[in-house]
Amino acid sequence: MNRNIELPLVASTDYLTIEGLAKRFGAFVALKQISLSVKKGELLCLLGPSGCGKTTLLRMIAGLEFADAGAITVEGKDITRLPAAKRDYGIVFQSYALFPNLNVADNIAYGLKGRNSDKAARVTSLLELIGLAGIENKYPAQLSGGQQQRVALARALATSPGLLLLDEPLSALDARVREHLRREIRSLQQRLGITTILVTHDQDEALTMADRIVVMNHGVIEQVGTPEEIYSHPQSRFVAEFVGKSNWIKARVSGNQCLSVADAELYALHLPPLPPGQEVELFIRPEAVRLHATWDAALLREPNTALADVSKIELLGSFYRISLHVPVWNSDLMVDLSRDQLALYQPSLAQRIPVSLPHDQLRVFCSKDAE
Ligand code: ATP
Repeated sequence: MNRNIELPLVASTDYLTIEGLAKRFGAFVALKQISLSVKKGELLCLLGPSGCGKTTLLRMIAGLEFADAGAITVEGKDITRLPAAKRDYGIVFQSYALFPNLNVADNIAYGLKGRNSDKAARVTSLLELIGLAGIENKYPAQLSGGQQQRVALARALATSPGLLLLDEPLSALDARVREHLRREIRSLQQRLGITTILVTHDQDEALTMADRIVVMNHGVIEQVGTPEEIYSHPQSRFVAEFVGKSNWIKARVSGNQCLSVADAELYALHLPPLPPGQEVELFIRPEAVRLHATWDAALLREPNTALADVSKIELLGSFYRISLHVPVWNSDLMVDLSRDQLALYQPSLAQRIPVSLPHDQLRVFCSKDAE
């Protein structure tokens, strides 16, 4: 049975809207004119390098920091100046932030009001929800890092908030636990249909968990899109390099869809209207580069095809990364191959092998974008 069918869909209505948000710390501009909307039920990921402003943005949504300019509204209500305690969210931080002197039940029930029997029932159901039934009486020090983060998640969900804020909740965990919890948190978020904002600097986390990703850099939004849009159609060199692996080839526009590179010409289907002579950089993902098992002179006359020298072959777990140098394009390329592809093409060190760049997979960025 496909369980996805039962999951609630992300609504088309906005839950939270941010308009023109700006924040300075002294002379340092941390956020510039951020505008963004978060749809009800979606998991939106704020992704970017350290210092890009993602935590500052999350803290302003939480009311832990106030904006210098701009507005934040939740379901149409302006909350820009509302104190944190009056906002409707649960939050999980990178460090577990559980009270060490309280047991699991008291940690989870901390923000709950009402009768003790109701609180106990709520704690029991939350522990079932996070897959840790029966650990009510344990103390944080008796739990693994992953278990502590799940308890922190249960505590954040205890009051059934409208919004869940996750600030790098998995980055202190080891890789195996982190991957497992990514899936668990995403599945829980979808089952509950809770609007969630996740801050991370980890592109894999963003690509695997998010409905939409907001890529940030130096206090501005570079691009907002689904994981597929961000990965396959990056709109800036920064996004192309920050998310996934990338190959770059320096070229000059020489005509319609046509670029000159070193000693050859390349064709790009999606060439923006640029004047001849414009310096550009061609971008292609390692898995989009094609190798050929056999070749003859006719193959080398095909567009976007040249001979390459194999300089390195690395096993990276489930796939192989082949490093190539292509003299006529004066370029180094990475090509990712599955085991089956490796067996088919049989590249070996110092061997010459023909390589093609599919013209619909090449993206073109003006060289000034690279700055
Ligand atoms: P990280 O992943 O390292 O936390 P980030 O993208 O979340 O990075 P922020 O924590 O939002 O970045 O910080 C953005 C910038 O603002 C950083 O250069 C940081 O040093 C600065 N900054 C954040 N808070 C303060 C503060 N209270 N006072 C001064 N500067 C601050």
